[in-house]
Amino acid sequence: MRKELIDSMIHAALSGAGISREQALEMESLSREELDFLFEGTDRVRDHFKKNDVKICSIVNAKAGRCQEDCSFCSQSGKFKTDSPEYPLLKVDEIVAAAKEAEGFGANEFSIVTSGTALDNREEVEVVKAAIRRIKAETRLEVCCSLGLMSAEQMKELKEAGLDRCHHNLETARSHFPNIVTTHSYEDEIHAVKNAQEAGLHVCVGGIFGMGESFGQRVELAFEIKDLGTQSLPVNFLKPLAGTGLDHMDYMEPYDAFRTIALLRLVLPQIDLFVCGGREEVLEEQQEKLFAAGANGILGGNYLTTKGQDPKKDLDMIETLGLRAVSTLEKSPA
Ligand code: SF4
Repeated sequence: MRKELIDSMIHAALSGAGISREQALEMESLSREELDFLFEGTDRVRDHFKKNDVKICSIVNAKAGRCQEDCSFCSQSGKFKTDSPEYPLLKVDEIVAAAKEAEGFGANEFSIVTSGTALDNREEVEVVKAAIRRIKAETRLEVCCSLGLMSAEQMKELKEAGLDRCHHNLETARSHFPNIVTTHSYEDEIHAVKNAQEAGLHVCVGGIFGMGESFGQRVELAFEIKDLGTQSLPVNFLKPLAGTGLDHMDYMEPYDAFRTIALLRLVLPQIDLFVCGGREEVLEEQQEKLFAAGANGILGGNYLTTKGQDPKKDLDMIETLGLRAVSTLEKSPA
């Protein structure tokens, strides 16, 4: 058991600075027993920076399918024949109704997500702006958008409408990206994040793990995200969906997934770390360990193209662990 190595990692994380790239790379060789010891430490790091609060984020797939990009994990790419739904941008009322439903089951953050390279036209931008205004006026949710490769000007408009945060995944490490997406570049992804930051928005930047990348490439992605200065980070584990370019892949091993969560908590100790896609399938009955590994948030409700578990089950899990789902209802009245 390399207790000294693990203690030095926890110390670096508790200081707020986070572990070095060299320490991060050492995590690949930690045995299961060492990982269990590490999770006692990552649990302390999470508790130190986040107390026992758990954030619940929820999303609406506001525009589905028909995408001209070729992201090989995605069932919404027009390149793949899948049974994923296809529909144009929802109406303002429909987006607001989804937000209210999310608030009703305990979410405190709500993201409007659309398929495609970016919003297609002015009409779509106006619909999203109107939806943001109404959600801010009619709920206490923090509002996030995930709309693809948007310009700084478009993001400024959305911020003026009340948008709190922009979500944009880098998907994977720069060195693995060309194996996953060929229709746009990694720099396009980085620009999208920087455009949101230029507009004065907080950003939520993460990726998808288990797409054939090495552990070193997971470390590479963690430090790329750190360099961007993001406030929150969604961790997704690949769900190999039928018909997509990665449908031949296996689900990640649960301990490999927990190791990845711990890596991100130790590199970015102060960040809001959400476990999103693939949580139920990859972590199965061990889901509760995600908090010890370092996460302080989950995506609740349904995913983009697949169903999530009953939100009540999530709330029960959080309560049983002695943690507390942060509710919008606790915020001071608007
Ligand atoms: S991830 Fe987004 S950009 Fe890529 S194919 Fe899916 S919908 Fe299109």
